[in-house]
Amino acid sequence: MSAPASLGAASKAGPAVLRERGQREVFCGLTGIIWLHRRMQDAFFLVVGSRTCAHLLQSAAGVMIFAEPRFGTAIIEERDLAGLADANAELDRVVARLLERRPDIRTLFLVGSCPSEVIKLDLARAAARLSERHMPHVRVLNYSGSGIETTFTEGEDACLAALVPEMPDAPAGAGPSLLVVGTLPDIVEDQFRRLFAALGIAPVHALPPRRSRALPPVGPGTRFLLAQPFLNETARALEDRGLERIDALFPFGAEGTADWFAAAAEAFGADPMRVRAVLAPGRERAARALERHRATLAGRTIFFLPDSQLEVPLARFLASELGMVPIEIGTPWLHQRHLARELGRLPAGVTLSEGQDVDRQLDRVRVHRPDITVCGLGLANPLEAEGLTTKWAIELVFSPIHGFEQAADLAELFARPLRRRDLLRV
Ligand code: SF4
Repeated sequence: MSAPASLGAASKAGPAVLRERGQREVFCGLTGIIWLHRRMQDAFFLVVGSRTCAHLLQSAAGVMIFAEPRFGTAIIEERDLAGLADANAELDRVVARLLERRPDIRTLFLVGSCPSEVIKLDLARAAARLSERHMPHVRVLNYSGSGIETTFTEGEDACLAALVPEMPDAPAGAGPSLLVVGTLPDIVEDQFRRLFAALGIAPVHALPPRRSRALPPVGPGTRFLLAQPFLNETARALEDRGLERIDALFPFGAEGTADWFAAAAEAFGADPMRVRAVLAPGRERAARALERHRATLAGRTIFFLPDSQLEVPLARFLASELGMVPIEIGTPWLHQRHLARELGRLPAGVTLSEGQDVDRQLDRVRVHRPDITVCGLGLANPLEAEGLTTKWAIELVFSPIHGFEQAADLAELFARPLRRRDLLRV
């Protein structure tokens, strides 16, 4: 039975929050492996799980048959359930075989799953044991991507949080540096690096780095800027190491991107005239490119079911830059501190919900019949069958959507299904 929903108080920062604890309909954190393995090409993700976990990864990734894959599943067989000693020995054997065959691997992540949690396989201990055996060539780390502990994008958060303790200390007396936290497509990272350079911000490092062992140094002069809104544990781990977070909107759309860069520039004492001059061309280009989507999107209602944790910044972007009308913004977790600026810019009257009780939420979707519903794959087809237009949340995570140059592509992801529906109705 579902726990009753509770309504938190409205605050200056934004609307009241409906808290729901019921059945969820979200991918587990293993999904993050799909974009993490593309980013860190010398890392390998070994899921310690079941055939279900392997199927999830294969169907989400579209298996690359010709390439050497950089993720796999060590299947926990029934006989492993009989004794943990056997499971540990088997894991050691699988890892030794893998590393022998693949000398290109420099970091091995043991990724926990529901089955490994259920049999209480201690992957932290296994990672320490295996790291001792295979260092210095291969570092072995662990994190959980299990559906019991994580939803969808929390897998990346858990992975990056596992990297934080491995980041070296900056040398004493090192000057200020900026750390951009969160996986971005390489093309977006390159655009961002050019803008940071033009703003005079240097050095700029990224977590995760492209080479898994080239972890950037951090020290008291390091400030960090979140590129993704779902990195709560990573942010906490960085703060525990004395790093200061730069508060900003997330870099979606012309305004979000401008605010994100301006906040970094301010933290680094950049000249405001220079900041305006550097950001103006991209901001204007993005605003112009968005104009053509306004006709399709302005005045249309949108309902976000909780999925990727991108929901709040995306709703802010769609409402403030394209005139869409969010009805409900559902998110698995609402990290109020990281989203404070975003929440303050949401339109009045929107319902914000944290967690999920899928049946109640679907009832609300049916009452409002929004023009577009953003949801997971499993809910999209049934809703389409009821005549509702949907957008898969997973597409938003897999597409380059950050920054000035991608603002119009992001708007297009919402405009396309609406245009298609309009055409079908004619
Ligand atoms: S980790 Fe759990 S939820 Fe995710 S695929 Fe494996 S069994 Fe399913």
